[in-house]
Parts: sequence; C-alpha cells; structure tokens
Amino acid sequence: MTLPLALSQNVINLMYGVAAILLIVGIKRLSHPSTARSGNAVAAVGMAIALVFTLASPVIDSYWLIAIGVAIGAVIGVASARLVRMTAMPQMVALFNGVGGGAAALIAAAEFHRLAPDPGAVSGDILGAGMFSALIGSISFSGSLIAFGKLQELLPGRPIMFAGQQVVNGLVFGAAILFAILAGSTEDQVWMVLLIVTALVFGVMLVLPIGGADMPVVISFLNAFTGLAAASTGFVLDNAALIIGGTLVGASGTLLTVLMGRAMNRSLANVLFSGFGVAPAAGAAGGAAGGDGQVVREIGADDAAVMLAYAKHVMVVPGYGLAVAQAQHATRELADLLEARGVRVRYAIHPVAGRMPGHMNVLLAEANVPYPQLLDMEDANPEFTRTDVALVIGANDVTNPAARSNPESPLYGMPILDVDHAEHVIVLKRSMNPGFAGIENELYYNAKTAMLFGDAKSSVENLVGGVKNA
Ligand code: NAP
Repeated sequence: MTLPLALSQNVINLMYGVAAILLIVGIKRLSHPSTARSGNAVAAVGMAIALVFTLASPVIDSYWLIAIGVAIGAVIGVASARLVRMTAMPQMVALFNGVGGGAAALIAAAEFHRLAPDPGAVSGDILGAGMFSALIGSISFSGSLIAFGKLQELLPGRPIMFAGQQVVNGLVFGAAILFAILAGSTEDQVWMVLLIVTALVFGVMLVLPIGGADMPVVISFLNAFTGLAAASTGFVLDNAALIIGGTLVGASGTLLTVLMGRAMNRSLANVLFSGFGVAPAAGAAGGAAGGDGQVVREIGADDAAVMLAYAKHVMVVPGYGLAVAQAQHATRELADLLEARGVRVRYAIHPVAGRMPGHMNVLLAEANVPYPQLLDMEDANPEFTRTDVALVIGANDVTNPAARSNPESPLYGMPILDVDHAEHVIVLKRSMNPGFAGIENELYYNAKTAMLFGDAKSSVENLVGGVKNA
C-alpha cells in the first residue's frame, strides 16, 4: 500500500511548524481550568497534523504495518481513556509514558541494526543521539512500569531499600554509560543490547526505593526523560516534529517536577533518594502536637451544618480524602444549598492537594463546580481572615501550620493553606491518623477547630441533610 501523495520536505517541515505552534498554544491553554478542555483539543489537532504529514513523507513506502500499529494503539488508547477511573489516572499516565520511552529506545535500536552492515555511514553525533535515546528511553520504560506496579498495588508501595543501594545503582548506571560508549565507537550490536538491558535494570533500581505516594513526582520526572529520548530520536530520524514535540515534553515534564517539588518543599534528590513514605508512627515527627494534654473537640453533623448555614463566607478546602471518598458531588450539592441561603462559598486549592497535579481541579470540574469559585493558594490565603468557616474535607498536610512555625517538622517551609486564620475550622476525616507525610497536624488541637469524624462522603451528605433542616 502506498499513498498517492508524496509531499516535498519543505511542505512537511512547514506543517511541522504549524503543529508545533498548536502544541504550544494547547499547553498554554491547559494552565487554566476554563481553557483546559479546548487546549487539549488544540494540541490534539497539532498532533494529528504532525502525524498526517509524517505519513505523507516520501520516505515511507509501505503503510500496512503502520496501519496495524495505529489500529491497535487507537483501540487501547480510546478504551483506556474511557474506562479508567479518575483515581487511576496516574497509573495510566505512567503506562503511556513508559511505552513512549520504550518506543524511542526501540527506534534507536532498529536504526542501529539497520546501519550495522555499513559501519561509519552516519556521523558520530547521530550515533550519540541514538545511544542517548536507547539509554534514557529504556530507563523511562522500566521505571514507569515499576511506578505503574506501585500505584496499581501490584508491587509493595513502600520504598524497597537495601544496604549499599546507591553504590549498586551508580555501578549499574556507569555500566550502561560504558556500553553506550562502546556501542557508539565500535558499532557492534552486542553493546547496544547490553546497553538496553542495563538501562532497563537501572530504571527498575531507580524507582524501587521510592515510596508509592511519591510516584506522581517520579512519573513527571520520567516523563521528562521520555520527551528527551523522543527528541533525540528525532535527530536520528531527521524528523523536526519529533524533535520539537519531544523537547516540549522534556521541558514541561522538568518544569512540572520542579513545581511539584517546590510545592512539597522537597528537592528532587530528596524524592529520589530519601525513601520518603516510610511513615513514622503518628506524632513521632513534627513536634509536640497533641501532647501536653491538648484536646480535640468533636462536633456532630447537625451542629456543623448550623455553623455553615449561618455563616457569610465559607471556604471549602479539599484534599486527598475527598478523592478517596468521591465526595465531590455531595460537596457541590452542599455548596449549592449554602449559596441558595446567601452564603458565599469558595474552594481553596493547594497545588499538591491529593496525589497528582491538578487532582482537586479535576474532581471539582467533574462535579461541575463553577471555575470562578476555585481559588489558587495565593488568592485563597488572604481570604481566610474574612472566612467564617473553613470546611476542610479530607485535607491534612496542606493545612498543617507546623509548615509555617515548626523548623523541626518535615513539612517546614512548604507553603500551606492558612485555614487556621479563619474564624472557625471544621475538619472532615475518619480518624486522627496522619496524611501522606506521616505527621500529626496541630490544627486539630487548635481551639477554633472542630472535628467531624467519618467517611467524607457520608459526612458531607449528613451536612446536606443538616443544612436543609437548619
Ligand atoms: P493528606 O495529607 O494525604 O491527607 C489526606 C487525609 O484524608 C488523611 O489524613 C485521611 O485521614 C483523610 N482521608 C482519607 N480517606 C478519607 C475518607 N474516605 N474520608 C475522609 N477522610 C479521608 O492529603 P492532602 O492534604 O491532600 O495533601 C497531599 C499530600 O500528598 C501532601 O503531603 C503532598 O505533598 C503529597 N503529594 C501530592 C502530590 C500531588 O501531585 N498532588 C504528589 C505526591 C505527593 P483519615 O485516615 O483519618 O481519614
């Protein structure tokens, strides 16, 4: 099967430029919930243009295998995008990211194999780009599969560590670099195979010692790897769209990793090498919260509902527990009821609330919460002093005042939502158990705070009933 049209490379490159512009505009639009949907569509059109004009390239002379690959990929892609639950999205991103890295490594290996009978036919920099794709793409593939396994609970989520691990990891990585140099200099395929095998082993070793809860940061980091691998594959294949697209993925993955680290007040080295997620016993870290006879005040749903119903300003602070309980629809219903009574309701969104970037925005968008009600942390914090009731639903670490005041706390320095500046705080969670960071929250012992214990969805439903009767 051949295509009738064989476009000139100039036309193809021009259309790659158009595709690149659409991808950049699409990414820009992803930065706000109100434009994110159309941003996705714009980027998809850009990707479609890049695909169509790549297929129209005169260098392609048979389309059968490509058609079969596209059909298989399209079925898997459409089915998983439709069937996967929102809470399983990080796993899906990990898998898709991994296959991207694996594809880049396979292309590098295939090109190496194609050129093997004719050593010296390509320049050293193209060979170098191929080695880089094979190395980084393989690390991203196996690392992403381990991240998937941890998130899907096929593997233990806790960090898997052993003595001298970092030395062993360093040696494996060193061996992979050595094989890359040997493969590039001798053009012997044995070194290429060894390079890919050791890079795959390194990807596994890199991610095993990282706790399951840190996987979103790891996936974003490996996503940057996949982008770089794809970009260098673009140099091997002399394909401008792949170079531009891969660089965009590499840059945005790097920025997202940095932003997530900053919002958690943790360096990338701390995420990769500290074995974070081996939770200390509650209260073991983070100071004296809860000690010294401090008491926790409990509140019933009916009393909490009365406080909300007679407030002027309510700030909802959603967190990971809202996602676990799937309480977003009930929360929207509660907010609607309150607004109908003249209460001003808004939502304070912390950048790392939940377990993936934009987790809270996605959940609240699913429940059709109007975008103007969503406030970023910077806009929400000054509002807490004017807030009558801060309603914390399954959020913990992102509200912990120890991040501001206790230099001993592992959270110290992390920007938080200043819920304790509100007049009253109602916290919905099931127990006094800590959150992701494994440390107690002194907010729960504040005289302003009342705890409504229970699953967030049933608690919010009880509040809805209470407000209706208030
Ligand atoms: P969090 O600190 O993990 O706390 C979540 C709280 O929700 C827990 O204390 C838990 O308490 C409660 N909860 C769980 N299931 C519940 C249910 N069914 N009903 C009611 N409550 C429930 O969450 P967060 O405040 O959203 O903070 C996010 C944390 O994750 C931060 O430490 C952040 O650094 C980290 N993180 C975020 C990302 C990201 O991209 N967003 C990535 C990696 C790590 P109970 O068990 O007592 O109910």
